[in-house]
Amino acid sequence: MTKKLLLGAEAIGQGAIDGGMSGVYAYPGTPSTEITEYVQENKVAKERNIHREWSANEKTAMEAALGMSYAGKRTMVCMKHVGLNVAADAFVNSAITGVNGGLIVTVADDPSMHSSQNEQDSRFYGKFSMLPILEPSDQQEAYEMARTGFELSEKLGVPVLLRITTRLAHSRAGVETVEPMPENRGSLPKDPRQFVLLPAIARVRYAGLLEKQGSFRECAEKAPFNQFFDGEDKSLGIICCGITYNYLKENYPDECPYPHVKLSQYPLPEDMLKKMEEQVDEILVLEEGYPLVEEMLSGFFCRGRRILGRLDGTLPRMGELNPDHVAKALGIPVKEGGKAPDMLANRPPALCKGCSHHDTYKALNLVMEPFGDGHVFSDIGCYTLGALPPYSSINSCVDMGASITMAKGAADAGLFPSVAVIGDSTFTHSGMTGLLDAVNEKTPITVLICDNESVSMTGGQDSAALGKIESICLGLGVDPDHLHTIEAHRKNHDKLVELLEKEVNYEGVSVIIPRRECIQKAARRIRAEKMKREQNA
Ligand code: SF4
Repeated sequence: MTKKLLLGAEAIGQGAIDGGMSGVYAYPGTPSTEITEYVQENKVAKERNIHREWSANEKTAMEAALGMSYAGKRTMVCMKHVGLNVAADAFVNSAITGVNGGLIVTVADDPSMHSSQNEQDSRFYGKFSMLPILEPSDQQEAYEMARTGFELSEKLGVPVLLRITTRLAHSRAGVETVEPMPENRGSLPKDPRQFVLLPAIARVRYAGLLEKQGSFRECAEKAPFNQFFDGEDKSLGIICCGITYNYLKENYPDECPYPHVKLSQYPLPEDMLKKMEEQVDEILVLEEGYPLVEEMLSGFFCRGRRILGRLDGTLPRMGELNPDHVAKALGIPVKEGGKAPDMLANRPPALCKGCSHHDTYKALNLVMEPFGDGHVFSDIGCYTLGALPPYSSINSCVDMGASITMAKGAADAGLFPSVAVIGDSTFTHSGMTGLLDAVNEKTPITVLICDNESVSMTGGQDSAALGKIESICLGLGVDPDHLHTIEAHRKNHDKLVELLEKEVNYEGVSVIIPRRECIQKAARRIRAEKMKREQNA
């Protein structure tokens, strides 16, 4: 046994390797990125040649993981919560195909929207798909769940959803690790029709999924991750989901006086909850994200009993919880900390000094000025900061890939000019199909694919688009006369303005690729090259 200081995300990567994983599939997205990065750098993963390349998007990642499971190997797919929307088609259907090799779907939720468009709760997707859910309360449990989750998945015959939140993903703790298990030997599914979801087969498989719900509940009832603790004060019972168990322990370091349940594996362990419910007057539900458990409890055995939580205002309805929120809910005085020093004051996010997007937005603003506001649709990446002063260049940012499709819809409605701004990685993630629609219908839009040769917003991972954007655009049918590449640099300002003026006034599909390597990535590359030279000298 070895003890390592790991982020929660890293503990999951280590747990998956030690659980005999043969491949991880993922698209980078905060707060899930570090899971895959950890596997990419891990010595054992390299020696074993565990698959660990980035995927083009979360749906391709989910489907590739399902393919590895089909072939009998253990696999994990990782994404942030909004990524599960992209992967949802494959994810929901994977509950019906079931698995051959164990499959863990790790999703990192971002309550308080530290770096996301919403704070959706992935446990709802797990419940919706009728799959077992694991929700660790600390880093050690994150490790254990990733390590043993493959066996659970194989035993139950379905993927297992492992849900974490930002606080756990991005905080460190000592984690006891054990020797890695060997990987599965490959094998095809025993039932050759298992993965063929033709309606006649899917109906049978779906009935099987419904039948399995009892065994999923039984499993949660006996799971070591779920525990009941008795308490002397029966005026209140507490249900702690995932990390909130830690918040309760911070308030009661010695012993919590109330009966409480530590809930880390779903479906709900009804017998365990009933044991607590029968002896208490009221129930407080502590859960990160949406009030999933609170709503479910209000719906069945607690009819008439007071359920406290996010819905009745005992806890805030939105945002991350912390030990102070829990203290307030329990009527414990909260110790106020000192005033934060001024140097910690919130600073609005900004593009790095010298970033190529400055040059692109300067030129775009100049060209769009005569048309007034409301013509530029953006996507998700560093360039989304163009929504803020000093540029205030863009008018939308909805989800990955929505820039080109929204520009197309607005052009269909008669908006002219209609311009989309998208990054290189986002273009291959989910922008390409929108461009194909526009090409097919000859929609008058101008698309700027800001190519900085990496997924910069999440730390500079390799972009699936590297070196391929022009050929993809040509392959999709963009007219070569209206496809232009230019170095995004202030020395080219006049050229870019001229190009933009010409293309925004063109009544068809045009694509401009302002290209310059992200300066953060360039700095890392130069440092790595220097180190290599010094080592070889
Ligand atoms: S990380 Fe790269 S792309 Fe993002 S703002 Fe900085 S320089 Fe620009």
